[in-house]
Amino acid sequence: MNKQETPTFPSRLPKVGTTVFTVMSALANEHHAINLGQGFPDFPCDRQLITHVNEAMLADHNQYPPMIGVADLRNGIAEKIQNLYGHHYDAESEITITAGGTQGIMTAVLSCVSPGDEVIIIEPAYDSYRPSIELAGGKTIAVSLEVIRDETGRVTSYQIPWDALAKAIHSKTRLIIINTPHNPTGMVWGTADLDKLANLVRNTSALILSDEVYEHMVYDGAQHHSVASHPELAARSFLISSFGKTYHVTGWKVGYVAAPPLLTKEFRKVHQFNVFTVNTPMQYGLAAYLADAKHYLNLPAFYQAKRDFFRAGLSKTDFKLLPTPGTYFQCVDYTALNIPEAKLNEADFCKWLTSKIGVAAIPVSAFYDQATESGVIRFCFAKQEQTLTNALQRLQNL
Ligand code: GLN
Repeated sequence: MNKQETPTFPSRLPKVGTTVFTVMSALANEHHAINLGQGFPDFPCDRQLITHVNEAMLADHNQYPPMIGVADLRNGIAEKIQNLYGHHYDAESEITITAGGTQGIMTAVLSCVSPGDEVIIIEPAYDSYRPSIELAGGKTIAVSLEVIRDETGRVTSYQIPWDALAKAIHSKTRLIIINTPHNPTGMVWGTADLDKLANLVRNTSALILSDEVYEHMVYDGAQHHSVASHPELAARSFLISSFGKTYHVTGWKVGYVAAPPLLTKEFRKVHQFNVFTVNTPMQYGLAAYLADAKHYLNLPAFYQAKRDFFRAGLSKTDFKLLPTPGTYFQCVDYTALNIPEAKLNEADFCKWLTSKIGVAAIPVSAFYDQATESGVIRFCFAKQEQTLTNALQRLQNL
């Protein structure tokens, strides 16, 4: 019998497997573990937001929206950015609605990176950056956050590697990808950092992609410092954000990209053949909900309470807590735990924690291309207090 064969071909992404978030969520489900791995809330979104979407559907907003996104939503975003960061983006020529932050990132990279161009990322880095660069034919130049350790060698914090960054930038640098608040470390950029970056890229042709999907999760009274708040950077930046994180609807996959007209023009050329448009009723619903600023202004207090609750519980364990000035992630050093598993590498420790202790976490090593072990794992605290309590009970028994 003639066996039907699928022709083989060279993979476009030979090193890529399934993302660590999907893998760890599957492992958590398999072992009925409490999933503090993949970043998503386990509580419902506001019913009012659902009502707005229902109303949009019932009002027959169910056909293709404009390619660039529903005008009300783009106008609302422009107003929000103006109010928070003092920069005016024109909703017609500078704001595009995307199917989530990840699509915005991929599309931005594809729209400006040509084969041979260099793109700088700062590791640990969100896992979609590298594949986006590779698909564009670009070359990834990774610099690592400086890992600050205490006298016992334990990680206490991270710092932006300014010297390495300065050395990495040259005439082939097309794009620099930054992320603040930062996944997975929770670190946030200050105004002095934005100034330093502006100094480095002045008189170069490097563009910036700023992933700010956790913009509304900055704690202890601090402010988020967006590239939009820095006119010199804004002039060369794609600013990426997402509604999934802010409104507890990660499954809706709606985000946006704000960028000057030249960048937006190229972005939309790719966007229209990538997703063409983003689902209509969600955009109307989000536009209505966005009109009330308290829905995002309340977020820091909401998540700070969860962060503080989770940290207070973890402080009763031998995990060493890293600072969490932003995001909904808490990183911990596990190497001081008085158990044999404390010697495992991060990936194996997370598998053990998930399958044997019943709490899923993400190894920070997954955010590096080359194996980099620092004994640090990431928990997501975007969970109901009861979920955090249950997880803490298990972790406190270690
Ligand atoms: N951004 C989320 C995280 O870091 C996961 C998104 C995804 O699963 N791709 O956990």
